[in-house]
Amino acid sequence: MTEKTIGYVELEWSCPSCGARNVGTTRTCKNCGAQHSTKIEFEQTVQETLITDEAQIAAAAAGPDIHCGYCGTRNPATAKLCKQCGGDLAEGQARAAGKVLGGLRAAPAPPLICSSCGTENPATARKCSKCGDILMKPRPKPTPEPTAAQPAPSCLPRVLLFGLLGLIGLAVIYFVLAGRTTDLVGQVSNVAWKRTIAIEALVPVTREEWRDRIPAGLRIGQCTARVRYTQDQPAPNSREVCGTPYVVDQGSGYGKVVQKCWYEVFDDWCQYQDLQWRSVNLAVAQGNDLNPRWPAFELARDQRAGSAQEEYVVTFTANDKSYNYSVHDEVGFRQFSPGSRWRLQVNTFGAITAIEPAR
Ligand SMILES: [Zn+2]
Ligand SMILES: [Zn+2]
Repeated sequence: MTEKTIGYVELEWSCPSCGARNVGTTRTCKNCGAQHSTKIEFEQTVQETLITDEAQIAAAAAGPDIHCGYCGTRNPATAKLCKQCGGDLAEGQARAAGKVLGGLRAAPAPPLICSSCGTENPATARKCSKCGDILMKPRPKPTPEPTAAQPAPSCLPRVLLFGLLGLIGLAVIYFVLAGRTTDLVGQVSNVAWKRTIAIEALVPVTREEWRDRIPAGLRIGQCTARVRYTQDQPAPNSREVCGTPYVVDQGSGYGKVVQKCWYEVFDDWCQYQDLQWRSVNLAVAQGNDLNPRWPAFELARDQRAGSAQEEYVVTFTANDKSYNYSVHDEVGFRQFSPGSRWRLQVNTFGAITAIEPAR
């Protein structure tokens, strides 16, 4: 990010003795004669315009003013001896500079109403055009005190709490019921297996990428210019972007108006056609015996076999009720000869939780 100087504006300072607002470059209060001291900070005027006078611009850029070490009088940065007492300014104190005061106030400010006679004066006026009284800066509206009344406590947290307790209760009930089992002896009444293989094919897909990152040989479609990165220096295909101008205290009664700028570099963001393996079909084999096998299938050009899945389900009959039991692999499945007898543990939900051959 680079910092650009747009120009300079005049600042002002408020006299703590009489309240008058003084032009930044004045070194004693125009109203009461009080001296400007290091303790009194510069402020922005309500409506700022860039100064155009060469001499003023030179004074603004000369550096912070120096307060005399003997009498406190404010002297320009270029002075060697105090214009008030003649003291050596090498012993003096330079004003602090570099503080960011705020955004440039370029927009017209509302008029100032004289508190003595009610006359409307331009925002930039310092004395009333009718009665000559000092015009005070409009006070910022006091922020409303936070009201003492507390908002009614929301019932939402309570609802959430009861909801959570309810869920915990349900979970506890579920685990108690699921854990309570009955012993039964069941007979294998059915066995079922199912094996599937996904058939995958190369399917065209549209992807997006920066033009220079698209693999060679692929068809590039529509492109749009997008910001790829930002940098301080201009580049071909770049656009300058600047932040809002703001005012920095120079310690001389002037403020420097600066702006942070950078360059957005554009590049081509493009759609392109690519191919991707996707499942387009399933080959399925199934049966009700203990000899599961894989489905036969044929692959077309640009096709391949994808993921394979197997399912084995044994059905038991006990006390005129049926219970299904899933087995994970073929070896386990082959133990369940139809008609064989097994000791089962069945929970409240009818699920088999343990199994062993009945003696
Ligand atoms: Zn004063
Ligand atoms: Zn002095």
